[in-house]
Amino acid sequence: MRFDLDRVFIENEFRDAPISRRVLNALDSRVAVQYVADGREAAKPDRRQADPFAAGKRRLILMRRRAPFLMACPAGSAQFACCGYLVLTLASNCPMDCSYCFLQEYVADNPGFQIYANYADALDEIDALIRKAPGRHFRVGTGELADSLAFDRLTGLSLDLVDYFSRQRNAVLELKTKTDEIDNLLTADPKGQVLVSWTLSPPAVFASSEHRSAPPAARMEAARRLADAGYGVAFHLDPMIAYPEAERDYAELLDRLFATVNASKIRFISVGGLRMTPGLRRAARRRFPADPMLTGEEVLSPDGRYRTFTALRGRLFDSVSKRIRSQAPGVAVYLCMESAAMSERIFGTRPPDPAKMGEILARGG
Ligand code: SF4
Repeated sequence: MRFDLDRVFIENEFRDAPISRRVLNALDSRVAVQYVADGREAAKPDRRQADPFAAGKRRLILMRRRAPFLMACPAGSAQFACCGYLVLTLASNCPMDCSYCFLQEYVADNPGFQIYANYADALDEIDALIRKAPGRHFRVGTGELADSLAFDRLTGLSLDLVDYFSRQRNAVLELKTKTDEIDNLLTADPKGQVLVSWTLSPPAVFASSEHRSAPPAARMEAARRLADAGYGVAFHLDPMIAYPEAERDYAELLDRLFATVNASKIRFISVGGLRMTPGLRRAARRRFPADPMLTGEEVLSPDGRYRTFTALRGRLFDSVSKRIRSQAPGVAVYLCMESAAMSERIFGTRPPDPAKMGEILARGG
């Protein structure tokens, strides 16, 4: 996949860094490159643009991350069924533009597409974590504030990450993506320590809401190829959107998935409903006024997010979990950002605590 950029900014201290050289070598020569003392300035919104958030996606900034790289998943709390995921923030923002994306609110004040050139420090943080808890298994993902692979063609970052994680015994990497950008991964040997996961939506949601992403069939085909190459693969039916034909469309999507990817190679499928803070909902509806997927009936939940009516989303969760159980009984399924009560209603049991869940998924079931 190719994404258009208007300009690349590189902080002076990374002028000769290997990642800068890789980006400059792979970059279209028509894209202007500018060296700056502090990339944070370039990340700020350009208010002269009609859509400063969209404009930020077209400004790539290679810069230092000045905060820790590793943190607990923001979705994790005592309130929600949770998978114990650790987030490794190697980039911020994304060249795709999904109408429901929480980044529209979360990085509205810093929409420039930042890639952190001091990512070796991130690997040091993981080393320190593993040293502190040598008996535990960690699942570390890079796809929270950015798509993990969207610009891999330029940065080659996935190769450094696979090399690092392939040497670990108690940490697995999860790369999360809506692309089919897998060329670099196909050249590396993950030694069982790298999982690649895709958000999957029915074609109707893809066409309406997931702008510039790879079509669902291309994502499944990329998964099949990576599974054959020794990567773990997983899928996120998240956010599920309750539009009128949703039950039928998600069932067909799962049929297509199991016809493409051998179920025995799928580590897990996560399931979650569309949820939006009032600020995100306003931003999304302003930017995508014609998207029917954003106009469903929702209620404000106790956590301050709008969600589809409980009965309606529970019915959707129930239908996909039954479909998965009937076609792929060995595949682990869990709910993301839903209450333990919802988990109990769908699966008949309360979820394990987050740390235990993280270990189960890190070990692969
Ligand atoms: S692919 Fe993910 S990060 Fe990128 S715009 Fe869509 S939801 Fe946001």
